[in-house]
Amino acid sequence: MAGAAVPTPRFLADVYEAASECNKCSLCQATCPAYVVNPVEWETARGRIALIRDAMEGRLELRDIEDGPLSSCLTCDNCVAACAPRVPTGHIVSRARQELHAQEGYPWAQSFALRSVLPRPGALRALHGFARFTRRTGLYGLARRTGLLSWLGTLGALAEQGGPPPDRTVYQMLGDLPDAAQPVRGTVAMLVCCLSNLTAPEATDATIRVLLASGYDVHVPQLGCSGLPARTLGDRDAMVDMAVKNSAVLSRLDVDAYIGDTASCTEHYREYGSIAGDDRQVGERAREVAHHTALASDFLDRNGVRGDLGPLRWRVTIDEPCALPIDGPERGATRRLLEQIPYLEIVPLHERAMCCGGAGTYFARQPERSEAILQRKFENIRASGAEIVVTENISCLLQLRAGAARYAPNVKVMHIMEVMLASLQGAERRRAVLAG
Ligand code: SF4
Ligand code: SF4
Repeated sequence: MAGAAVPTPRFLADVYEAASECNKCSLCQATCPAYVVNPVEWETARGRIALIRDAMEGRLELRDIEDGPLSSCLTCDNCVAACAPRVPTGHIVSRARQELHAQEGYPWAQSFALRSVLPRPGALRALHGFARFTRRTGLYGLARRTGLLSWLGTLGALAEQGGPPPDRTVYQMLGDLPDAAQPVRGTVAMLVCCLSNLTAPEATDATIRVLLASGYDVHVPQLGCSGLPARTLGDRDAMVDMAVKNSAVLSRLDVDAYIGDTASCTEHYREYGSIAGDDRQVGERAREVAHHTALASDFLDRNGVRGDLGPLRWRVTIDEPCALPIDGPERGATRRLLEQIPYLEIVPLHERAMCCGGAGTYFARQPERSEAILQRKFENIRASGAEIVVTENISCLLQLRAGAARYAPNVKVMHIMEVMLASLQGAERRRAVLAG
């Protein structure tokens, strides 16, 4: 008897087989942050995958599922941890968004941001200068009162969530850095995340200082965006262009490793090899960059933080970025580093790997859903009894800081490298006091 004919997908052939692996077991249901705040079938990985397959096989169009099944997924892959066949739902949803935009065209404002602003370090510098100007002159307050910020969409929401722009970007803070501790044991390049640069430079400044204290010379190349927003928003061409451009800058450096301190961006750099494709020269460069890229906590966990760690009598909990590889050693690196700090108390956080609702620009695109997810996160944080939440992702840092302001004003949110730096500096102060 002949077997059933295997349908030929109309598009997205590269993810068709993976999408067909879903066995409909529903184990992913309880792990999906979008589903737990809106428990309907199309919110689950199973539901989204089934609908995308329907579109591939011609039973519906991608535009029919854009609003909801495609737009409300955080591409966080928390569902993958529960999924026996490891269906890569976040990747499949991202590819479906790319296909949808290829079919229907891109919103002009999004295209402008992804193709003309984010890839250019000069444009990002100008953006920081302009943001500072609007704050100084009161234009920011005016834009907020008149509704101009809301009209600006994602950009306006980012400006509101990021708060007042910092006085200096990461690049402008480089002049104050000490030399690497002797003996120097290597040279690394810092992958400065553009969101960190414009909204939380103190986190990246801390990362650089911990690397220097650990005996690494740190190069800080001028980079544009990693291309991650282009991936999540479905602009494949912009994503590939950014990967190719950054790989060209990075491969010219004579360094041992490329270090990121934003889990999602760093994971994206680690995919540069497959993003840049088969082109012999460009692909090879991108693969080299991807191969030598590591997240700061993982790099220091493997190589060791050098220097004395001073005591911190803090009660902290860890909100693990969902962008970390499900089975990778990166998952436990933050805890292993924190455990080295004397007197630091680490308390467990229920649903610690569940997305906080930040997810890049998700908080701006899906504000109500994002708020419901954030509220649930803070119910868990309050229940943990922690006074500090530690993370290693800048969009999580901003989202959690916004959540703390609303739901737990006594809770502070810190990047893991800010905690490590506080401990190193505490030990140094103690040494100075003892020395007289
Ligand atoms: S990627 Fe995240 S939001 Fe999307 S289905 Fe999986 S768990 Fe839910
Ligand atoms: S856990 Fe995996 S296999 Fe099971 S329903 Fe969800 S996506 Fe499908």
